[in-house]
Amino acid sequence: MSEQPKRTELGELGEFGLIDRISDRFKNNNASTLKGIGDDAAIIQTGDKVMLVSTDMLMEGIHFDLSYMPLQHLGYKAVAVNVSDIAAMNGIPTQITVNIGLSNRFSLEAIDALYEGIRMACENYKVDLVGGDTTSSASGLVISVTAIGEADPEKVSLRSGAKKGDIVCATGDLAGAYIGLQVLEREKQVFKANPDMQPNLGPYDYIVKRQLKPEARMDIIHELRELNIVPTSMIDISDGLASELFHLCKQSGLGAKIYEDKLPIDTLTYNTAVEFQLDPITCALNGGEDYELLFTIGQEDFEKLKNHMDIHFIGYMTDAKEGRHLITKNSNAVELKAQGWKHF
Ligand code: ADP
Ligand code: MG
Repeated sequence: MSEQPKRTELGELGEFGLIDRISDRFKNNNASTLKGIGDDAAIIQTGDKVMLVSTDMLMEGIHFDLSYMPLQHLGYKAVAVNVSDIAAMNGIPTQITVNIGLSNRFSLEAIDALYEGIRMACENYKVDLVGGDTTSSASGLVISVTAIGEADPEKVSLRSGAKKGDIVCATGDLAGAYIGLQVLEREKQVFKANPDMQPNLGPYDYIVKRQLKPEARMDIIHELRELNIVPTSMIDISDGLASELFHLCKQSGLGAKIYEDKLPIDTLTYNTAVEFQLDPITCALNGGEDYELLFTIGQEDFEKLKNHMDIHFIGYMTDAKEGRHLITKNSNAVELKAQGWKHF
């Protein structure tokens, strides 16, 4: 009997294992490729500046559900999440390209709405739409955006630059997008059961917006620049705080301690989590799509940032051997687990 060819399930590797496996097979051929796979964006030398490149794909049924995601918001979000990756390198986005896969389910008006969202994001983040590709799709709407940005080579923030003792900072507030998604899912089920019922989203406005219309924190990047602060490491929070902190720790060869009572969680997010019988802290650690920034700064920069309303000091970097822990309100050290999103 002939032997069956080996088949390994993608779920055994997970998303990060798969990316490592792909990147292990490639070597760069160009000296201008300063950083390839492995950070929020690639870094390419161009004269005395560096160019940053990042790409993200959103798939109907996986990343969005058109029954509650208006196309205009989807267009905006597709750009915002890419701008967020450029921000996470401490760069300024300049151009985007947009690829879409469409079926005849979509009308011209629908595509106009999608591109109206893309246009609004281009205005807001001051980027230019410079190209793309359009194809048909048999499996729903697909939208893939590539963002190009620029940075001063000395001021790029990699995931790998954190030093022991650096302060861990998080912007904005966490878990809102995840709890907002729970609200949208619940209202969808109510609507399915009884189509005459109007969704009651009003009280949840802020967190629903966190899910449907996230913003890239370019405002923070500009403020840091004005204060002459270069984060020693940085990443955007797309998969949840724990997963992103793991990336900073792993690539910087360090451990970290973060404090439960320092995690920024909005009151509405907190109360709605409780309403759903979810632990708000677990949601902040493992919920995704907040698109806030997680970064580290040297102790010497603390004075300049300490009164900032929207930057929270949640912990500090330690030796790798001390591991990665959440210090609870009762001073227990709980080992952090990076779950991230499971795509497979
Ligand atoms: P993010 O959450 O910031 O978008 P990802 O986890 O998607 O980052 O990607 C991490 C790194 O792996 C990035 O450098 C990205 O460009 C690279 N990457 C992801 N998927 C692939 C792929 N299919 N082929 C090559 N590189 C990839
Ligand atoms: Mg990222």
